[in-house]
Amino acid sequence: MVGGGQLGRMFAIAAAQLGYHVVVFCGDENEPAAQVAQRCVVGRLDDMTAIEAFATQCDVITLEFENIPAQTIAKCKTYAPTYPSSEVLATAQDRLREKTSLQNAGLPVAPFARVVDAASLAEAVAIVGLPLILKTTRSGYDGKGQHRLESLEDAANVDWSNCDEWVAEKLIRFDREVSVMVARTVDGSTSTFPVFENDHVNHILDITMVPATLSESVRQRALQIATTAAETLDVVGLLCVEMFVSSDEDGVESVLINEVAPRPHNSGHLTIEACHTSQFEQHVRAVCGLPLGNTELVSNAAAMANLLGDVWGPDGASPAWDQALAVDGVELHLYGKAEAKVGRKMGHLTCVGQSRDTVVAKVREARERLN
Ligand code: ADP
Ligand code: MG
Repeated sequence: MVGGGQLGRMFAIAAAQLGYHVVVFCGDENEPAAQVAQRCVVGRLDDMTAIEAFATQCDVITLEFENIPAQTIAKCKTYAPTYPSSEVLATAQDRLREKTSLQNAGLPVAPFARVVDAASLAEAVAIVGLPLILKTTRSGYDGKGQHRLESLEDAANVDWSNCDEWVAEKLIRFDREVSVMVARTVDGSTSTFPVFENDHVNHILDITMVPATLSESVRQRALQIATTAAETLDVVGLLCVEMFVSSDEDGVESVLINEVAPRPHNSGHLTIEACHTSQFEQHVRAVCGLPLGNTELVSNAAAMANLLGDVWGPDGASPAWDQALAVDGVELHLYGKAEAKVGRKMGHLTCVGQSRDTVVAKVREARERLN
């Protein structure tokens, strides 16, 4: 596993359950994934000697975030099959390339235009209109590197030196955001998880709920879009497809892809308790050449609430976990991060049950009790 964060940690736990020994390659032996893995190789992602020390121990290599240098993956590949491929990563690392490939495959994406500076922004406005969201093409996550522009004047505070390429996207007035996790094996078989509904706060995922409130036709459309995206990009492993669902004046719903991520995803964390096979186990199965598992829900409904560093309070004091765990049916996951920072993902709460309203209320209540 290249990367030591929480996604790598939950992957390592799932892999261990299937009898695998996981070697984590990351920057520090105390990172979340390194804490639970069999072995850890510490090094910089572009340190070829460290990559070799890591890769020679592996039968198959995967990763937990897409911003991995191309030469790192190229090096890994010389020692063991590496999924997702460098082509998939190159696409997922670059919003412009990602949107262009999806659009070329006939998939629906929000209207967008390439921007490099203030002058080309004016041309982009002519294509996508205002308001728009200006995003760096590379390295953005949790809303970082994004600006909402109501007018061209709003671009005055954009620091153009942050990135040499940007994408301007039409602001989508969506009814809801959903995501579909799809797994794809080396031989091309695919399996989707149920559609998840996601609420974001400050551009960061806050709550995931299942089942999503959607008409049956839109649900089928979302599942089909995700499968086509995985096939188009030739992904092996998991692909998360984030989508906007909006309706026109006549109430006709449509689906647009926001972005994709070729790895486990925050919106899939509830699968650990909510589905017969978790997203992490599914990723293990896909990259290790095992049959894909059953993704059905074990119950009617489930919800997940993220725990950001904000819950810790200014002095860094640990929240009242016992209070949250006293809410019947609520499960706690902590990622073992040393320092709580505002906006940093530190853990999550999950609840599975019969009614969506009830499980959402429970994870919210458990989280409120922490303060
Ligand atoms: P990140 O890589 O930071 O997750 P996203 O493109 O997914 O970037 O943006 C984060 C969130 O910002 C989205 O989940 C959505 O809530 C909001 N957002 C992003 N793009 C748009 C858009 N074009 N229209 C409306 N909301 C958007
Ligand atoms: Mg996103």
